[in-house]
Amino acid sequence: MKTTQLLNYERDRWIAGSGQLTELPSAIDGSPVATAGSGGLDFGAMLKHAREVGGPALRKMSFHERAWMLKGLGLAIMERKEELYALNPLTGATRKDGWIDIEGGAMTLLSFSSKGRRELPDAHVLLDGQIEPLSKTGSFVGQHIYTTMQGAAVHINAFNFPVWGMLEKLGPTLLAGMPAIVKPASSTSFLTEAAFRIMIDTGLLPDGAVQLIVGGVGDLFDHLGGQDVVSFTGSAATASKLKSHPTVLRESVKFVAEQDSLNASVLGPDAAPGTPEFDLFVKEVVSEMTVKAGQKCTAIRRALVPAAHLDAVERAMDERLRATTVGDPREDSSRMGGLVSCSQRDDVKSQLKKLVDAGARIVSGDPDAAVGPEGGAFMQPILLRADDPWHAAAVHDVEAFGPVSTIMPYRDMADAIALANRGMGSLALSLFTHDEAAARDFIQGAAAFHGRMLVINRDNAKESTGHGSPLPVLVHGGPGRAGGSEEMGGIRGVKHYMQRTAIQSTPAMIAAISEQYIPGAPKHFLTDVHPFRKTMSELAVGDTWRTDSRTVTIADIEHFAEFTGDTFYAHMNEEAAKASPIFEGRVAHGYLILSFAAGLFVDPDPGPVLANTGLENLRFLTPLYPGDAMRVELTVRSKSLKSEETGVVRWAVEIFNQKDELVATYDLLTENLP
Ligand code: NDP
Repeated sequence: MKTTQLLNYERDRWIAGSGQLTELPSAIDGSPVATAGSGGLDFGAMLKHAREVGGPALRKMSFHERAWMLKGLGLAIMERKEELYALNPLTGATRKDGWIDIEGGAMTLLSFSSKGRRELPDAHVLLDGQIEPLSKTGSFVGQHIYTTMQGAAVHINAFNFPVWGMLEKLGPTLLAGMPAIVKPASSTSFLTEAAFRIMIDTGLLPDGAVQLIVGGVGDLFDHLGGQDVVSFTGSAATASKLKSHPTVLRESVKFVAEQDSLNASVLGPDAAPGTPEFDLFVKEVVSEMTVKAGQKCTAIRRALVPAAHLDAVERAMDERLRATTVGDPREDSSRMGGLVSCSQRDDVKSQLKKLVDAGARIVSGDPDAAVGPEGGAFMQPILLRADDPWHAAAVHDVEAFGPVSTIMPYRDMADAIALANRGMGSLALSLFTHDEAAARDFIQGAAAFHGRMLVINRDNAKESTGHGSPLPVLVHGGPGRAGGSEEMGGIRGVKHYMQRTAIQSTPAMIAAISEQYIPGAPKHFLTDVHPFRKTMSELAVGDTWRTDSRTVTIADIEHFAEFTGDTFYAHMNEEAAKASPIFEGRVAHGYLILSFAAGLFVDPDPGPVLANTGLENLRFLTPLYPGDAMRVELTVRSKSLKSEETGVVRWAVEIFNQKDELVATYDLLTENLP
């Protein structure tokens, strides 16, 4: 049978690489699955195409348009997921493993789509923080903004998650409006290519938005520039080689690295055998060893246990590991599939040898036992034990990227923290404890060394997403050895593909630049139709409703105090109010002012405005005394679509007194019809 040649996607065309091709073997039996090669691609032209065609097309779209596009891509992958599940076992993965990769990948796109519509404005510029007043009269202010970088994002992915690995980078990149060139790890690129093809088939991506390289990257790095971003996942060795490429250094190319780390899990000092935390710990460490055959960047390599419980942990883990059936990932009976390839399995064995040479001993599993179909990349899960972890440096430094983990004792909390941090930076750490003081001491002592930390116990285990699951809304990355970067983390991850700039000008200019209303910028006063009678698409940023004025009387204040029970001295005791350093006499309640404000600006009928969903940034600036009048200006600050059915309008509310002094300001959030 002729082996399929995977295609590259270069400048919007599918292209077969020429010259030397790499044969990609099946993890199940070593038979060839496909060939791949990128010979003949013009890497410089690919970058130029991304910058000159893909970038401008994506930047023309608003955050929301790009967020809808991500939703379409995620749904397309879900719709055609069985095509991907058909290829998944060839990477050694069981269907359960494949779920994390395929559906987890699609869900990551959907999550970024949803975050983008909820948290980003329907605009092209992202504001960073509040306006900074820089002058007396307010004509000169400062505002930090993010705009999309104008280069290409080069994504270099690891072999272990061929679909998720691509999509967790594409989500934030495309949402930011940057085009990407995807380079999957060769060994599993057949699965990446299939998922990539599904996205191209949707027709949702503008020309130049994405390109694919199946094979080496040739001279691509020589053509990088200061507006490009490299986002890398893989080994520390490759990361440091690419990071120190002369062009990357010369052009200050942004480099996001997520690399191997020796993640730890810690059994708390309180979690003796017989406690729920003990059982949860044993279950989680075994699960992290066997899911994806331990080929997870977040897998637990080091299990830290109070010295008194080490034997008990060893026995409990051995029992579970023995019950783990290893074999053909297509068989339902296989609890653990294979490694990605025989060469990767050999690599794991050679790393394992270094751990044994350093003083760790194998207490469960046999690395040389024959398991799984002949010619396949299978091995038993291996549990090591290091009784003297401070004299076995390799257990903290050498990653065997497979079903391998080492248990080790700690003496006390300080020792546990020091051992956890001895990994020199990790992606994920879990602590199993029901003791709040232990959790506080441990997290405060170790957080600086770890990207994500979970405290798991009887109260949250059932709903926990688990040690090894990076989540689109949380940061994935870690300091030091883990690469020193962050991916995902919700909108934080989008900002890696944007540049922050400080803008100084008039509020009017900054509002025009950012397509969002800024206090002090000109307003467009509506005179005929109340803004609550307009759908989101009919409302424009800067549209303002000016209300009538209402006088606040002492009777109002007393009625409000009696009605709500808020009889604070400042509203009810003239003498005490006068004696305070803040007031000249009794004042209106802040909540009364807010309530009267709503009474002034609300239009009551059911309509495009469905609900008040909250207030933000509330400030009371000038006290309102009995006899003072108040009026409101309600201005559309920005709009975000939550779904096809509803969206959120952010209104700037400014309350003035009869002297036009600002009494209070806040952002009002309403849920509206689009
Ligand atoms: P590599 O660092 O070798 O490969 C990672 C990616 O970099 C692949 O796409 C690879 O492509 C690419 N690459 C390698 N060399 C170059 C180069 N000179 N220029 C451009 N791209 C390059 O890691 P592996 O995938 O081989 O895994 C090795 C180790 O990395 C594992 O044993 C494990 O320790 C760690 N790892 C960590 C992961 C994590 O998520 N933190 C995930 C996977 C691995 P190609 O495949 O074509 O060589």
